[in-house]
Amino acid sequence: MLRQYELVERVLDYDPNADEAALNRAYVYTVQKHGTQTRASGDPYFSHPVEVAGLMTDLQLDQETIMTALLHDTVEDTLATIEDIEANFGPEVARLVDGVTKLSKIEAMPEDERAAENLRKFLLAMSEDIRVLLVKLADRLHNMRTLHFIKKPEKRQRIARETMDIYAPLAERVGMYEYMREMQALAFEQLEPEAFATINDRLAKLRSQDGGQVDAIALAIKQALAEAGLTVEVSGREKHPYSIWRKMAERHVSFEQVTDIMAFRVVCESDADCYKAMGVLHTTWQFLPGRFKDYISTPKTNGYRSLHTSLMYENSMRVEVQIRTRTMHQTNEFGLAAHWAYKQGDRPDGQVSWLRDLIEIVDASHDAEELLEHTRLAIYQDRIFAFTPKGALFQLPKGSTPVDFAFAVHTDLGAQSVGAKINGRHMPLRTPLENGDVVEIIKGKKAEPQLNWLGFVVTGKARAAIRRAVRLKERDEVAEIGRKLFDEIATKVPARIGKKAVRDASKRLGLDGEPELMYAIGAAKLSDREVMEALVPGCTADIDDDEDWSKRDHTISIRGLTAGVGFKLAECCHPVPGDRIVGLRKKGVGVEVHAIDCLALASGIDSDWLDLSWGKQSQGALGRMRVTIYDRPGTLAEMAGIFAQNLSNVKSLEQVQNDAPFASYEIDLEVQDLAHLTRILSALRASDAVAQAERA
Ligand code: MN
Repeated sequence: MLRQYELVERVLDYDPNADEAALNRAYVYTVQKHGTQTRASGDPYFSHPVEVAGLMTDLQLDQETIMTALLHDTVEDTLATIEDIEANFGPEVARLVDGVTKLSKIEAMPEDERAAENLRKFLLAMSEDIRVLLVKLADRLHNMRTLHFIKKPEKRQRIARETMDIYAPLAERVGMYEYMREMQALAFEQLEPEAFATINDRLAKLRSQDGGQVDAIALAIKQALAEAGLTVEVSGREKHPYSIWRKMAERHVSFEQVTDIMAFRVVCESDADCYKAMGVLHTTWQFLPGRFKDYISTPKTNGYRSLHTSLMYENSMRVEVQIRTRTMHQTNEFGLAAHWAYKQGDRPDGQVSWLRDLIEIVDASHDAEELLEHTRLAIYQDRIFAFTPKGALFQLPKGSTPVDFAFAVHTDLGAQSVGAKINGRHMPLRTPLENGDVVEIIKGKKAEPQLNWLGFVVTGKARAAIRRAVRLKERDEVAEIGRKLFDEIATKVPARIGKKAVRDASKRLGLDGEPELMYAIGAAKLSDREVMEALVPGCTADIDDDEDWSKRDHTISIRGLTAGVGFKLAECCHPVPGDRIVGLRKKGVGVEVHAIDCLALASGIDSDWLDLSWGKQSQGALGRMRVTIYDRPGTLAEMAGIFAQNLSNVKSLEQVQNDAPFASYEIDLEVQDLAHLTRILSALRASDAVAQAERA
């Protein structure tokens, strides 16, 4: 732990005008207030605020920030009040401490509400003064460094998750890359201990194989640049397990396939030297096109400036190189904090515009959940990572289910899914996956994607594949109906119908073989008569049309209309003879005939209503019904059989819903009259295949 005089000397080093006495008072105050409190590590509690203050001196922050760091937990965890702080250290320090305290209080609230609320106050406090954020980030970083002392695994998990989801991205947004990297590294170790251990192992193995690679490459880079007359500093490092893991996830590759596990930094003396160094490197080694980024001429919004490139070292190893000046380097690693140093009162407002965007969302949303959704979207890539049992990694949008996962692995696997194990446990296919889940898909023998999966899948790939498969399946079912109808038609022709006759018939009809013929019959694209003619040409000449009412011209007449006025049966309610009807005058149509309970009538004007009735012997109209059947093989065909038995022709059939184990269809049917339609509905309701049948 930093001693009192060490801390004060550090501040005086970079700010000789700092108020030494005030710093000393703050140090003594925190030691006294925290008294005998201890941390999970067994250390005295005050070691924590002192370490946080130390982190702030690394960033050369002003004395108010250092004092705030020292005092940041006194109001929350001791008897001290904000009034005490103000009386002892002035209004500015009191305001900053209050900001940090508010954030800490929120951490103690229950889960969901807390997370959102936390973020909101956090952001508001930040927008007021960026120094509150800096202290908060340092506080979180020190807590992460000492996380392993906490005994309860759930608590460690929660803190690590929050760090990964909220604090590391915030550190990134304000350009605190050092903080971001360390937070991610520590959180990753906690959240994915196995992945962490595996990657660490592999790295250790690599190091033992060709020890000193990092140093050798750094030296080679330095020599190449020296030969070109450039004085530079070169440092190299292995990437942290977390960034390797993220690369594996982003590129869907295994550890062996991650080729760029080393990164190098070249620090030059001037902007011009940066570009010159880049040129030298690009001529010495092969560079990867498309990986070159010039953040010197166009800095990132958080102020980050550097040149980035990737080189092929000895033809097989990809190494990342960042080239920058020393000043850029300072700014890059500590972002806004670097700007803050020495420049009290000169706030870099332009660089916190992303914060302003967030604040606007915060102000606009009242619902904590909604807020969290928005802010997370803004600060965190809304992705999850899931593994196959063999360890292949897939990146999916948040909310993805095992079905999305299966389709992401392979279209066939998706189609064959019947169940899933998540982390070894059987779970429903609609379960949203979480980061790091291991997903095992249980395959059925047949590919049978379900229509109701569309209700929960989130990826476009799964959605498209399911739609395609369901369409094909529907086609098969319609063909199955056609086959049944065909068998009946075949009994009516004066010949035995074999395979050849069927082939010839489909040829005559211009169809491509038996399946197409059956589909055309099932989909009511052909009348019985057309099929019979195709099977045995000329055979329908003697058939008495009267036997089948549907072959006669429909004879609908309407009473109550002025002679000569045209009419049309409305398509919203599909009235059939026997229904109580009224007419609506419509421009260009004449009169539109509606069933009296049709909703469309509600919008008509009374004077336009015509009281109508059906003419004698009117028969033949389209009735619309909605039928819900049990969704299993053969039920659709049974329904079609009922229509056929009742000499009713299906004009259109459309699946409107699929809620396993039911499927609902909307069907337009040619019927003689209301009695006919009612008879058909009764027959449907009597069938085992049908759950419900109503007029639509
Ligand atoms: Mn703290």
